[in-house]
Amino acid sequence: MKFGPLGTVLRWKNRAPLPSLRLFSLLHSRSSFGIAFDIDGVILRGRVPIGGSPQALRRLCRDSGALKFPFLFLTNGGGIPESRRASELSELLGVNILPSQVVQGHSPFKNLLKRFENELIIALGKGEPALVMSEYGFKKVLSLDEYASYFKNIDPVSQYKNWTTEKIFNSKANTKDLVPRYDVLSDRVKAAFVVSDPVDWGRDIQVLCDVLRSGGLPGQENGPQPPLYFAADDLEYQAAFPSERLGMGAFRIALESIFNRIHHNALEYTSFGKPNPFVFKNAEAILRRLQPSCHDGYFMDNGNTGSNSFETLYMIGDNPLVDIRGAQKAGHPWFSILTRTGVFKGKENHAEFPADLVVDTVEEAVDYILKKESSF
Ligand SMILES: [Mg+2]
Repeated sequence: MKFGPLGTVLRWKNRAPLPSLRLFSLLHSRSSFGIAFDIDGVILRGRVPIGGSPQALRRLCRDSGALKFPFLFLTNGGGIPESRRASELSELLGVNILPSQVVQGHSPFKNLLKRFENELIIALGKGEPALVMSEYGFKKVLSLDEYASYFKNIDPVSQYKNWTTEKIFNSKANTKDLVPRYDVLSDRVKAAFVVSDPVDWGRDIQVLCDVLRSGGLPGQENGPQPPLYFAADDLEYQAAFPSERLGMGAFRIALESIFNRIHHNALEYTSFGKPNPFVFKNAEAILRRLQPSCHDGYFMDNGNTGSNSFETLYMIGDNPLVDIRGAQKAGHPWFSILTRTGVFKGKENHAEFPADLVVDTVEEAVDYILKKESSF
């Protein structure tokens, strides 16, 4: 959708009603666009907005706070429920963000609900991985922190660690209610989910190896490996520190290398997140659903259910291997824009995964999009 024609239609609407055929052709001949923003290294660095992100996002919203153009956040990060991430982003950026505009690495885990809804599963990573999974509807989910706490001596170096996770469980009565505690030592874990970046790599690798090679029950004989899911596979990402940090993909490599050395079968796993093209397909479907709310009732009353296909979908990211490569793999109608505020810091384009456009900041990217879209 372009602003020129849209603005014209709205002005006409205020003046005099148009013949319905003319209006129909105007609505259906308009092209359309949507935007997916990566978060880390594009919108935020740690918790600090970067690259003029608040101003850029404000240009995509109406004064009322409603969406003017469909956009969402497509991040491989996570660890908290989408609803909480949306309020956090709203607060940090001063723009009203809906939970449906937040697609995190672990969001596709909800598609596995049917299979594991009532099975014992473990979830690991920073933040509140078990809460994320229980909000998706999984009934018997334990964080790896809590799960490990039921197995005495499972972490042989825990006494040297100057932090503890046990206190956290005692203060969270609600998560304690999720699983009957008596069966943890006999019930087999049916799947493990790496929801966000693991905090205690050594302990997590140890416990995952125990769970995965025993067939779901640490300390037991070998058994068939339960499924293992990763929310993303980023080797590195840009956080508050000047150089990149090791991401979930780095953890996966560490786990896989060790597991394959100590077990006769190679590790089996599934990774979600960008650059998986299915993530971009899913984003496109969500952007389409966000379309109707971009317009006032006038458009909705005229049968625009947001099912129009997009002419261009913009992916704005800082990581060539993840954001740009993903948009390329997804193909039409994706158009990739690479910023220099995060992982990528080059002068020209990335050699292996060149973006359709390289800009300094997200503000520059949005400026480019709005100018281009208004010129049609
Ligand atoms: Mg990033």
